[in-house]
Amino acid sequence: MATMTLRGINKIYPNGVQAVHDFNIEIKEGEFIVFVGPSGCGKSTTLRMIAGLEEISSGDLIIDDTRVNNLAPKDRDIAMVFQNYALYAHMSVYHNMAFSLTLRKEDSDMIHERVMWAANVLGLVPYLNRKPKELSGGQRQRVALGRAIVRDPKIFLLDEPLSNLDAKLRGSMRKELKQLHHRLHTTMIYVTHDQIEALTLADRIVVMKDGFIQQIATPEILYERPYNLFIANFIGTPPMNFFSSSLDDKGFLHIENLQVDISETPIFKTLKDKGYFGKSIIVGVRPEAISVEPFFKDNENKGFQTKVQLYELLGSDALIHFSINKKSVLAKVDARVKLAPDQDVSFHFDLNHLYYFDPETEVCIYA
Ligand code: ADP
Repeated sequence: MATMTLRGINKIYPNGVQAVHDFNIEIKEGEFIVFVGPSGCGKSTTLRMIAGLEEISSGDLIIDDTRVNNLAPKDRDIAMVFQNYALYAHMSVYHNMAFSLTLRKEDSDMIHERVMWAANVLGLVPYLNRKPKELSGGQRQRVALGRAIVRDPKIFLLDEPLSNLDAKLRGSMRKELKQLHHRLHTTMIYVTHDQIEALTLADRIVVMKDGFIQQIATPEILYERPYNLFIANFIGTPPMNFFSSSLDDKGFLHIENLQVDISETPIFKTLKDKGYFGKSIIVGVRPEAISVEPFFKDNENKGFQTKVQLYELLGSDALIHFSINKKSVLAKVDARVKLAPDQDVSFHFDLNHLYYFDPETEVCIYA
């Protein structure tokens, strides 16, 4: 187990592309860290610099108390699991797992003990004599994990290890990985473009965009208090609805042709103090913060009226598509609310769960 610090790390490739800008984080012993962001944001480059597979252009990489920038990969005591498993096709599962220990000329009893331990942890005992091609995708991924854990490294690096698996298997491997981490309690750094994987696995998530860290936070905080519009849009499925709106001096938000009174909400004073009255502002509403119900003429509930465009049942939840003026909106409701296309409905925003973004900086404003 180890702590790791990345301090002011930059990566400029020989062709001049700066893939990583001023990356800073202190990772605690046993922490599960996930780097997440769209393709090309610099996640793999950062991971490869940690592994020693890519040179660090500037900054310090520290494991425990040692600066390791110039240490060869094999001397960093790090194990890496790749997306394509990189198993040896001609070797059995047993020998794939034993290989790195054999290479290190470890004692054969010790090797056997480690391989059997890993096979037990990963449920691979029945497959030890098989070749990789005789295994399912999930089993191969487990062998790749087994190969890493037999070495008992200080730190695990995992680069999109589940992206070659189908959705169902990904879900179950996610659970296994989480349990494995719980059991080993080894520091892990995991790279993915999938925000659901990030939310379900991480102790803390590093969100990246264009080589810059956007926010480092627990899954809960990232979801509840995204730092900016990018994160608000990236984290959460289905994504947040955004409206270009304006705020008048009486506390009414003008969203399309609607007027929403936010004068009773805690953020009202903050928006006033920060000078947003009379200004445009971007409003974010998560689909689950919109309630929708059948519209009745005599019903005194003062929701806004609209028509259902599309009703998608997801199991316990349902998605309702409708529009405000011409702007498409998505709400997520309990599936017990049964609605049909073209049905008249009324909807409400949960005013205590609206997000406000400065249109210029795109930073989220909080009370
Ligand atoms: P991610 O893992 O988030 O998809 P990468 O770290 O692979 O992103 O890439 C970050 C940026 O660096 C991208 O713009 C990519 O094109 C660029 N890049 C990656 N590898 C190289 C390389 N060997 N030479 C030049 N540019 C590279």
